[in-house]
Amino acid sequence: MSKDGGREKVIFLADCQSFYASVEKAEHPGYENKPVAVAGSVERRSGIILAACPIAKSFGIGTADRLGEALNKCPELVVMRPRMQHYIDVSLMITKIYEEFTDLVEVFSIDEQFLDVSASLHLFGDPITIAKQIQQKVLSQTGVRVRVGISSNKILAKIATDIWAKKNKEGIFTLPPTEVETLLWPQPVNKMFGVGSRMTAHFTLLGMHTIGDIARTPLPRLKEKFRARFGKQSDIQAEVMWRTANGIDDSPVTPRTFDTPPKSVGHMMTLPRDYIEPWEVETILLELTEEVCRDCRRKGYMGAVVSVSCMCSPYEAPTGFSRQMKMPDPTNHTNTVFEAVKTLFYKFWNRLPVRRIGITLSQLKDDQEYQLTLFEDQVKARALDKVTDHIKNRYGSAAIVRASSLTTAGQAGERALKIGGHYK
Ligand SMILES: [Mg+2]
Repeated sequence: MSKDGGREKVIFLADCQSFYASVEKAEHPGYENKPVAVAGSVERRSGIILAACPIAKSFGIGTADRLGEALNKCPELVVMRPRMQHYIDVSLMITKIYEEFTDLVEVFSIDEQFLDVSASLHLFGDPITIAKQIQQKVLSQTGVRVRVGISSNKILAKIATDIWAKKNKEGIFTLPPTEVETLLWPQPVNKMFGVGSRMTAHFTLLGMHTIGDIARTPLPRLKEKFRARFGKQSDIQAEVMWRTANGIDDSPVTPRTFDTPPKSVGHMMTLPRDYIEPWEVETILLELTEEVCRDCRRKGYMGAVVSVSCMCSPYEAPTGFSRQMKMPDPTNHTNTVFEAVKTLFYKFWNRLPVRRIGITLSQLKDDQEYQLTLFEDQVKARALDKVTDHIKNRYGSAAIVRASSLTTAGQAGERALKIGGHYK
């Protein structure tokens, strides 16, 4: 477990209940006792519910439901248009309140923050007392109800919130590492962080029904089972699941830096030989895109403009190009940027052998605004990027490489070894 000089840390995951809907309700007192939802494309019934207040949820309405379905379930639903910049402002206000209690606050999403309050106990009291003070302060200043999961590391704090603090009356729950076996292990696998409906189905087929079933499987055995289902690439995934089920997480609460965004984030690569085949070059383009996007995600930026620069052989008379394009929305999502990169590359590549290639994202802005275009598939794409980043940050960037990088053209494994300090 996370220990600091032999002492266990105290980590919170503070989650805002029905965040967007709560902000709207707080500012529209007339709707206090009405079912309220915030939805995109309010004009069209095809819009998606971004947040539903507890009253609306009692009608069976949930996040990512179609607006039409929601109105069928609850015709008197008050539907409001999202005001994203305002939610971002409120979220920053809430972060500032947390920072009164500790300088170690990590923004996990617009409505979830990790707090390391280990060094604050002698100032503000025991963990429950701090959690209650935080709840009162946030509620009185913003009208938002906060739920707090408490444990000794981030993953257990997150689990404490998701499984218990969100469900009980106090909105506070402590999951000590010593109780993992008695409290967490009897829970069904679908309650585990990072396990969706598809993964649940896989676990069912593997005969694993509770989180304890995962935790108690020796890791080498779990890796074997995963390989049989998902192929050779799945070792890391098996390890992440196993560590989560056992509540193991050594990652520190990392406050984000509020620096102004840099002008651009880019990576360039000189190839070990001339690359001629489009698929070879594409492999490199994808690797570079992944590096750039991952850098952006780690730093909390997204870019509106992508540029590709390419130098072709021969050296004596090098040709090449450097071109950029604006994307429909600022992004740091690997696949979205990669599509733009390919478009640019094929438009300007003259088919000469490629020697050096670079990719840059510019016109950077804060990625909290990402939520502006919140749709279910994007949420999933982001979640996948996040998990990939998480694994790479922990195990090194060669830990997960896309299948194409394992070909002879791929440089990702090589690069991670050669320039391991690249990301730091
Ligand atoms: Mg929430």
